[in-house]
Amino acid sequence: MGVYEDLGLEPIINVCGSVTRLGGAPMPKEVVAAFAEAATLAVPLEQLQAAASRRIALATGTEAGLVTAGAAAGLTLGAAAIMTGHDLGRMERLPDTTGMPNEFIVAREQRNGYDHAVRAAGARLVEVGFHELSSGAGVRRVEAWEYEAAITERTAGIFYVLTDGSRPPLEEVVALAHRRNLPVLVDAAAELPPRDNLRLIPATGADLVAFSGGKAIQGPQSSGILCGRRDLIAAAALQMLDMDDHRELWSPPDEWIDPARLPGIPRHGIGRGLKVSKEEIVALLVALRLFVETSPEADRARQMRMLERVANSLKDQPVACHIARSSGNECFPVLSIHVNDRPSALRIAAALRSGAPPVYVGHSRLSEGILLIHPLCLREDQVDALCSRLRAEIAH
Ligand SMILES: *Cc1c(COP(=O)(O)O)cnc(C)c1O
Repeated sequence: MGVYEDLGLEPIINVCGSVTRLGGAPMPKEVVAAFAEAATLAVPLEQLQAAASRRIALATGTEAGLVTAGAAAGLTLGAAAIMTGHDLGRMERLPDTTGMPNEFIVAREQRNGYDHAVRAAGARLVEVGFHELSSGAGVRRVEAWEYEAAITERTAGIFYVLTDGSRPPLEEVVALAHRRNLPVLVDAAAELPPRDNLRLIPATGADLVAFSGGKAIQGPQSSGILCGRRDLIAAAALQMLDMDDHRELWSPPDEWIDPARLPGIPRHGIGRGLKVSKEEIVALLVALRLFVETSPEADRARQMRMLERVANSLKDQPVACHIARSSGNECFPVLSIHVNDRPSALRIAAALRSGAPPVYVGHSRLSEGILLIHPLCLREDQVDALCSRLRAEIAH
């Protein structure tokens, strides 16, 4: 009996992508092996995180990095680091930000549920711009001058949520922020692939960038990466790591955290509840290495073949199938199944979830009557079952 069956659960076929609700992305065998080996031995976590910092810095072209408990945890720690710097008193007070600059300027159109992670550190979001496009009331997006106009002595930094269409471009926001001596914290959680984004996003000059480790990198579901400026990464690490040691004995690798900059050791910080285990750190680093080294083409070809099998199996059904090959060769191919209207799409999606084995399809276009099949979490040995479940529920 499998571990899930033992708990009374039937594993699902996930063709929805690496969503958190469904357990993120599967870890490759090599990553699982590293996780298991790391779990049986002990190392000081600050030394392990310092080694991780070197690997992350190399992979991202930044000064330093930290393995976090997901990208969202990276945003909480990043906001905390920006507000406190190396000030131990401020670290101790968070999330109470009385008396310190605590405002992060953010485009109103970039607000989303994940920015709770920034607010959790005690930061206050100050919105600029409008929703003119979505309200049908105008033609313009948020503009650089609007950020400039919102800067005051209470401003701690700028928070930027990166997607394909983010405006103004990140480079422009970084330039205006740096002219005013302000750091930029970037949510790039889901901006991989393409693989090059690991380097291209930090290369904009952004001070801190958060990526998910449990999405396309295929590390542990609850892992993430925060990378960027060395002093800010050190401040973030100081607020996450276990700090219960004697000053005389505490010796973090000093190219990473410089004790000479500190009048003492902080106590457990705002990030203590966001801790990352040794096996998660090791597994994330192996996953990151595979993600950087592996040519995406082989994987894309395998994913295309699986999607083609699914599309072919539906040829005699009253649906239209279309496989988008993605833009560039590093993004995922996705199969869209067009089934008339929203009510039928909802009915089929619900039936797929409740049957056996349960199938979870991509649901972002149900309102257009479209079911999406995303290949990242689909295994070869699940394709036949997926085809027959789709055929049965569509024909129903
Ligand atoms: C997934 C996601 C997050 C959260 O990432 P975790 O690694 O799950 O914490 C944050 N922001 C955006 C835009 C995301 O897509």
